[in-house]
Amino acid sequence: MAAMNDASRPPRLFIPGPVEVEEDVLQAMAGPMIGHRAPEIGELIGAIRPMAEKLLRTSRPVYLMTNSATGAMETAAINCIRRKVLSCVNGAFSKRFAEICENHGYEVTRLEAEWGKPILPGMIKEKLDEGGYDAVTVVHNETSTGVMSPLAEIACTVAGYDDIVLLVDAVTSAAAVPIETEKLGIDALVTGSQKALALPPGLALCTVSERAMERAKEKQLRGEYFDLLKIHKSWEKDQTPTTPAVPQFRALRKRLEKIHADEDAWYADIAAKCAMTREWAKDRFGLFPDEEYASVSLTCVENTRGTSIADLNSYLREHGFMLSNGYKDLKEKTFRIGHMGANTMEHHEQLLGLIDAYLER
Ligand SMILES: *Cc1c(COP(=O)(O)O)cnc(C)c1O
Repeated sequence: MAAMNDASRPPRLFIPGPVEVEEDVLQAMAGPMIGHRAPEIGELIGAIRPMAEKLLRTSRPVYLMTNSATGAMETAAINCIRRKVLSCVNGAFSKRFAEICENHGYEVTRLEAEWGKPILPGMIKEKLDEGGYDAVTVVHNETSTGVMSPLAEIACTVAGYDDIVLLVDAVTSAAAVPIETEKLGIDALVTGSQKALALPPGLALCTVSERAMERAKEKQLRGEYFDLLKIHKSWEKDQTPTTPAVPQFRALRKRLEKIHADEDAWYADIAAKCAMTREWAKDRFGLFPDEEYASVSLTCVENTRGTSIADLNSYLREHGFMLSNGYKDLKEKTFRIGHMGANTMEHHEQLLGLIDAYLER
């Protein structure tokens, strides 16, 4: 089969981040540099602010951070936890959230679910009933397993306890599905640029509730780079504490303009790409997660045919495509096809057609 892609470009990314970015968004990054204390930065951040709040469905500030999403997870952990945290772990990124909390010296209880299974509200309730917790961490969409946990139900459960903050990693769910951050009472929600936001890497977004901000004020030490009080003080001036990644900010402005031009269409597009891939996966292989909790942003396929995923990916690469093998222990047992980013339905059809051709060889 002839290469379907321009050979001069790297393989088309079907990995669950970083993702493909449209040409007009990439073009929006180019331009003369601006001073980070000049009026131009204020115009840029000022334009992004309301659009970012609208995206994350909150009236609270959305902070723009020049770091990858892990930095925003660390920000939530540093500023918003007092002493004892329940860390829900059902995959690699939720494990990272627990480790971040451990690295900052908190008393961490891991609530473990098998990889491929969701975190369910009942499990959280059982732990919180033991008492003593002041925070819960959860990953909405586990990118390592393709599982989306029921965030609204989880938030509702945590809200039933007095003074327990809910810290949510929404890195592969924010901008893939609408999230009612404020209505759900989420205390910290973080995401990164190179996943469902379909931007180049290097930027993270973080929003925190008023009571989470009060927690930050109680702290003796908040470090330097991830100090929410400093970040907020700069935000009030439409600035950032340190030099921001201006090109990424420009891309974000363009992205948010595009999403808000037709938000329904944006969410419908990723859902349609996911639905088609999921049907294909069920027909040819199987889904790794229970379908009820299967992610919208990526499809984690159970490798029921024992196909060599490494060889499949080499074959795809020859044709200008790339998907993800399973994560760590799930390598060769599963593989992952991302639906985030600029790949169209047609690109998805091409990819699935190539996998079919490989299977028929
Ligand atoms: C990618 C990812 C992260 C980490 O993002 P970085 O930008 O690499 O720091 C965290 N959580 C989830 C769910 C992710 O998919």
